[in-house]
Amino acid sequence: MINFNVPPYAEKAADYIQECVKNQKICGDGPYTHKCSQWIEERTGTTKCLLTTSCTHATELAALLTEIQPGDEVIMPAYTFVSTADAFALRGAVPVFVDIRPDTMNLDEKRIEAAVTDRTRVIVPVHYAGVACEMDTIMDIARRHHLAVIEDAAQGIMASYKGKALGTFGNFGCFSFHETKNYSMGEGGALLIRDEKDVEEAEIIREKGTNRSKYFRGQIDKYTWVNLGSSYLPSDMNAAYLYAQLEKADEINEARLSLWNRYWENLLPLAEAGKIELPTVPEGCVHNAHMFYIKAADLEQRTAFIAHMKQNGILSVFHYIPLHTAPAGQKFGRFHGEDRYTTRESERLARLPMYYGLTLEQVDEICGVVRRFYS
Ligand SMILES: *Cc1c(COP(=O)(O)O)cnc(C)c1O
Repeated sequence: MINFNVPPYAEKAADYIQECVKNQKICGDGPYTHKCSQWIEERTGTTKCLLTTSCTHATELAALLTEIQPGDEVIMPAYTFVSTADAFALRGAVPVFVDIRPDTMNLDEKRIEAAVTDRTRVIVPVHYAGVACEMDTIMDIARRHHLAVIEDAAQGIMASYKGKALGTFGNFGCFSFHETKNYSMGEGGALLIRDEKDVEEAEIIREKGTNRSKYFRGQIDKYTWVNLGSSYLPSDMNAAYLYAQLEKADEINEARLSLWNRYWENLLPLAEAGKIELPTVPEGCVHNAHMFYIKAADLEQRTAFIAHMKQNGILSVFHYIPLHTAPAGQKFGRFHGEDRYTTRESERLARLPMYYGLTLEQVDEICGVVRRFYS
């Protein structure tokens, strides 16, 4: 059986975690949390990175920072994970779903502006599969309409658009370190903050509404409750687990990219014969091989395809049920414009195994099974 995902692991994690335990330093904002945030700041060029308990929480934190109010509208794709919508709907805001582009499965930048109303406050581009949304256009729309941009870059670490790291374009960017992502701490995430002016408030909300971060830096002599907040700090043990992977981030990234390229070379003839479609990476986008997917002709063919793969010991999965068709999506959000591609394309997509540790030989084997289905 070839698994669909195996969580990433770097050997040094065991030593680092043991160090946390020995030093009895397992609470938040310890040495490994700092190492991880510093690494992310250096690699992405963001002004400030705060490690969080998840990407969902990083997005909630960003929603609080933009002071989103009940009835405010937030533009996002319906083809995304539920967290993108939850973070805003939790504050009473209305997710306004816009159609995606069929080539990248990303928010269609050409359809955003028509969805803007006088209640719109935020645009949330989701960089699906680590392939960037058309950020020049999105940032231009945001500027002209005075909207905030919060990037759901859950899948986007180590990827870039025109040479700039994903997660650093918008006011805020959100990474995920869930075990299904390229780098993992079990459960965890990061908030990237673009503007210095937002840093202090972000630290306050993340620390239960207190100015404790300032206190720890010795900038004030006691800390107190200054605003509403919550607790978004991960344990330093989780950060230690992640840091071991960040130290070899390039090696992990290159290994994933070579698997991705192997899939591509293997499956290109099927795509050229018009039997399947392969992912598109537009010019200017450098991706991180977060996932490899193919598109079948339709839902019926995809169902048969996934069953065929399973019979041959290979787990292939699909996602997402478009949010506007889900019960909560209908209750809390609405779709703007026409659903030309969201539902149709989501029903055709099947993901193939992709993880650090998968071998090129296994990819060849998987592709052989794919070819058999289409022969
Ligand atoms: C994984 C993922 C999330 C949620 O990440 P968590 O760290 O599990 O909260 C959000 N959005 C997208 C697009 C994701 O892929």
